[in-house]
Amino acid sequence: MKILDIVILASLVGFFFGCVEGKKSMIVDLALYNGKIWTVNPEQPWAEAVAIRGEKILKVGTTEEIKALFGEHTQGFDLNGSFVLPGFIDSHTHFLDGGFALSSIQLREAKSKEEFIATVKNRTSEIGRGEWILNGDWDQQQFDPPEMPRKEWIDPVSPQNPVFVNRLDGHMALANSLALEIAGVTKDTVSPPGGEILKDPKTGEPTGILKDEAMRLVSDRIPEPSLGEKKKAAQTALRHASQMGVTSIHDMAYSSNFEVYHELLKEGTLSARLTVYFAIGERDLYSQLEQKKPLENDLLKIGGLKGFVDGSLGSFTALFFEPYTDDPEKTGIFVSDMYPEGIMEQRIREADKSGLQIAIHAIGDKANHVILDIMERVIADGGPRDRRWRIEHAQHLISEDFVRFAKMDIIASVQPYHAIDDGRWAERKIGKERAKYTYAFKSFLDADVLLAFGSDWTVAPLDPISGIYAAVTRRTLDDKNVDGWIPEQKISLEEAIKGYTINGAYTEFTEDMKGSVQEGKFADLVVLSQNLFEIPPEDILYTEVLVTIFNGEIIYKK
Ligand SMILES: [Zn+2]
Repeated sequence: MKILDIVILASLVGFFFGCVEGKKSMIVDLALYNGKIWTVNPEQPWAEAVAIRGEKILKVGTTEEIKALFGEHTQGFDLNGSFVLPGFIDSHTHFLDGGFALSSIQLREAKSKEEFIATVKNRTSEIGRGEWILNGDWDQQQFDPPEMPRKEWIDPVSPQNPVFVNRLDGHMALANSLALEIAGVTKDTVSPPGGEILKDPKTGEPTGILKDEAMRLVSDRIPEPSLGEKKKAAQTALRHASQMGVTSIHDMAYSSNFEVYHELLKEGTLSARLTVYFAIGERDLYSQLEQKKPLENDLLKIGGLKGFVDGSLGSFTALFFEPYTDDPEKTGIFVSDMYPEGIMEQRIREADKSGLQIAIHAIGDKANHVILDIMERVIADGGPRDRRWRIEHAQHLISEDFVRFAKMDIIASVQPYHAIDDGRWAERKIGKERAKYTYAFKSFLDADVLLAFGSDWTVAPLDPISGIYAAVTRRTLDDKNVDGWIPEQKISLEEAIKGYTINGAYTEFTEDMKGSVQEGKFADLVVLSQNLFEIPPEDILYTEVLVTIFNGEIIYKK
């Protein structure tokens, strides 16, 4: 008898005795008990304990029931009354950018011109001559008074480093003179369609601010990071996700990101489930999608195609029916995915024929209306199908458009944190009336529209806790709206949690596999420092992630 046979025989004997004893036939690897688990499963909303075998949940029940399943090798985890939720699903991130941003210059906290300049100066002292300074995530709305940064601010402190730092929404960026020189942008350069080169009204010189498509003039000149650098950024981002309790991520990315995650998958270091969306205009798309088949696995997949209708509110590029309140000359723009005219509809038709999911960015009320019109026509021609198309942000809507989402089963992929961030200044830009339907989560729910929550990281922090806080309280970041900004749009805690769990799973067609703590689903769980149902909503923000369990393994412990 070979050793292997003995092992097999021994395990058969073990199995036999296990069956006789009944309960021991279930081998439990990890068991959490003595907890308060809100399962997001309406059949069994609360539980005390969960038994995990391999990567899946074996049983959900009382502490007594689960302890009865303990075997010799079960790792028990006493929750001591801690609160547990399914692992969070973030339905909208720019994940790899997030990884890069974590190790880049941080301008998000700059509250003045002086701080902005000092931060750039500081960065140049940390890096070599000629190295690019990128990302940044600044927000001129935070300056007092709000003022658009200019290249003249930073030129004196960055003579030897090209600088190209973006606003936190990613729809505009500031270049210093060196970066403009590398890109060949001068006073004579004409703004490309779908973008704008801001110029000084007196001198005609570029101010350094480039919007949307115009950003490409510089970004195309930035050396592409190597695969190794990208892998490092992905690992940094994954580590950050585990600290935030995020176990599934939708990456609004490019096919090149997919390659990076694929490498990590092969190495066995992918510590979150990733659904990658490709840019709608990406070429040889179909051959890339072919990769999907050999990739059948539970960690990495292609979600579909992501396109853009317009820009952002903060950059005056979100497209509205009526002009901006604070700049009556402007109504926003269609960005490049909409050119040449008709291309968006054509691409969506092609996507529909191939059975693909689409996710389209629309911020302004007109942008949302236009994309709904396109989707309506394509769906009418394509006939009924389980499409689960998504509109990303769906930030401003005219009141009659909410029901159109429901009619077409379109998912509102929204970011609650943006509401409490933009809520500080949105009324100044669009006035009181239009603001009523800004990030109108309750109106969506009332119209029976599914809300998938995300962060839009790096635009906002990759932190579902602050997103849940935002959706439930709508307290703006400046604390000026204690009862909530447009309080009638606040939603319940239950709905907010669903937005970050089961609804995210539905959005990626995996609601049978995750999104709730339920037998047979993946063991992706998060243990939190306080029971969100037992505290005042404003205290949600002070909740910490204690433990993150992914695929049946503890991957983070505070
Ligand atoms: Zn985004």
